[in-house]
Amino acid sequence: MALIVQKYGGSSVGDVERIKNVARRVKQYHDAGDQVIVVVSAMRGVTDNLIRLAGEIMPIPSDREMDMLLATGEQTTIALTAMALHSLDVPAISLTGAQAGIVTDGVHTKAKIQNITPQQVHQLLDAGNVVIVAGFQGQTSDGHITTLGRGGSDLTAIALASAVKADLCQIFTDVDGVYTTDPRICPKARKLTEIAYDEMLELASLGAKVMQSRSVEFAKKFGVVFEVRSSLNDNPGTLIKEETTAMEGVVVRGVSLDKNQAKVTLVAVPDKPGVAAKIFKHLADATVNIDMIVQNVSHGTAAPSTDLSFTVEKADLLKAQRVFEGVRVEIGYREISTDENIAKLSIVGVGMRSHAGVAAKMFEILAAEDVNIGMISTSEIKISVVISLDGAERAVQAVHKAFIEEAQP
Ligand code: ADP
Ligand code: ASP
Ligand code: MG
Repeated sequence: MALIVQKYGGSSVGDVERIKNVARRVKQYHDAGDQVIVVVSAMRGVTDNLIRLAGEIMPIPSDREMDMLLATGEQTTIALTAMALHSLDVPAISLTGAQAGIVTDGVHTKAKIQNITPQQVHQLLDAGNVVIVAGFQGQTSDGHITTLGRGGSDLTAIALASAVKADLCQIFTDVDGVYTTDPRICPKARKLTEIAYDEMLELASLGAKVMQSRSVEFAKKFGVVFEVRSSLNDNPGTLIKEETTAMEGVVVRGVSLDKNQAKVTLVAVPDKPGVAAKIFKHLADATVNIDMIVQNVSHGTAAPSTDLSFTVEKADLLKAQRVFEGVRVEIGYREISTDENIAKLSIVGVGMRSHAGVAAKMFEILAAEDVNIGMISTSEIKISVVISLDGAERAVQAVHKAFIEEAQP
């Protein structure tokens, strides 16, 4: 008998037939004597639709009310999944994030889990139930509903697996594992048998939405080994775990593309100490996360000024613009320009630590494809470039071909 956490994403519960399919899968484990906690997402498209509705009411709705709204998506699915199990004569009960004991901080729409008290979950499991928990949501210690950032049901599953000390944590989705790149973009993508936490973390934060990056960070911190696999077949999936020395033999494990970034440029910012600190403090106060930053060479000598560019998520662009409109005089920039027609292409692999010339090879491949590089950032195990959105998928295919198909026959 094992204690298992299974998470089913939006497409795996996309319609009533899919929910019945999930119930059949869960029943197999329950019948075998396992205790099963099932975490479900909102049905495919539901969260996006709720965001769209809110946007039709006002351009920047209150974050607290957004959470109240978005949490309803997962609540629909837990109840339907419980009913689907009941119809198969499996005892099951649904719980909201709060009922499952998930306590978060108060940063609405991007809340962090502070602690989980799973007593009730254990009691219900011990009484023979399958426990179905709403993904993506929690509650502050003073009772406000929060959500954990897009894709946050992954985090619910991993955090619960850690809190209940599960024997197994399975993330069921619509692909049968983690691939070397998004199989929708590159048909030659290969399924990985295993991948290190750090590689998965980079790929996820750089656009591979197969896992929410915060969930991978959590798994790494608390040593939760988990498997990504398909809810539609029984193929073996991909294991995400601690790095092994054998993993260093591969230079590039994966290629990712993030189309959800936008570039903001503040033109003619005074080039003097303290200005950058002010700019990024204002963004942080508005909970806008920034990614790459580029500061150009300064011009002028009497009152030198410079252009400062950085990338934010498209969803935060309007917020970022509002922030700067409010502090134009304080910061003293001349104008602000934005560009949504960008994408971030990255290559990731722990093997990069011990191999030279990887960046040069990547830039050559992009040059041969006539792709212009707008920004670059690197770490020990990744290289990212900002390129134009047009042609970005073609660039992914070229990079994948050189670093994976040809280099790893
Ligand atoms: P879920 O609804 O189950 O959470 P998501 O849509 O969030 O599923 O994530 C699964 C999708 O992630 C896949 O359909 C695939 O297109 C995309 N994806 C992006 N990069 C990768 C990758 N490297 N490996 C596998 N899938 C990927
Ligand atoms: N429903 C939420 C979203 O679409 C959470 C999730 O699917 O994991 O982002
Ligand atoms: Mg997801």
